[in-house]
Amino acid sequence: SEPLIAICGRPNVGKSTLFNRLTRTRRSIVGDEPGITRDRIYGEVEWQGHKARLVDTGGVIPDDEALIPSEIFRQAQVALDEADAIVMVVDGRSEITAPDVEMARLLVRSGKPIFLAVNKMESAAVAMEADNFRTLGFKEVFPVSAEHGTGVGDLLDAVYGVL
Ligand code: GDP
Ligand code: MG
Repeated sequence: SEPLIAICGRPNVGKSTLFNRLTRTRRSIVGDEPGITRDRIYGEVEWQGHKARLVDTGGVIPDDEALIPSEIFRQAQVALDEADAIVMVVDGRSEITAPDVEMARLLVRSGKPIFLAVNKMESAAVAMEADNFRTLGFKEVFPVSAEHGTGVGDLLDAVYGVL
């Protein structure tokens, strides 16, 4: 069957927005409606004539601090088990958080190919900030704007390179 790409990251970094852009659907719920929990959402992405499946992990997580770490890590673990490549998303407009660091460690330990998408980088000026996220331990970081589509082609070129 087609290879699977998993989108991981803490809440609110833009995973679902990226998922929707790549699949060109609105199947994945974007926003911060408290109390809504979704499991993984699957879609299909096509790039340069090649198809892959895509999974958005985490969904929309209830606004409960205690739930967040266990839920995002459970989702990441499930994604790790079944994915051929992983896109970890961080919010380029915020500082690196403890869950970002922990998530990066978990993903790296899997030994699977991981690509760091530094999201919300709409302008070239802010895109330079993306380099700060190299401290998470990834060789290459991809500044993107899931909302506008900037940088998404470069990210896909890299991901498809390992599928
Ligand atoms: P998720 O919790 O990781 O799935 O994040 P969502 O996709 O639900 O997005 C969280 C918030 O970030 C929403 O308000 C989005 O509109 C916003 N967002 C997502 N992508 C971008 C982006 O590329 N640029 C900006 N400025 N905001 C974004
Ligand atoms: Mg989401």
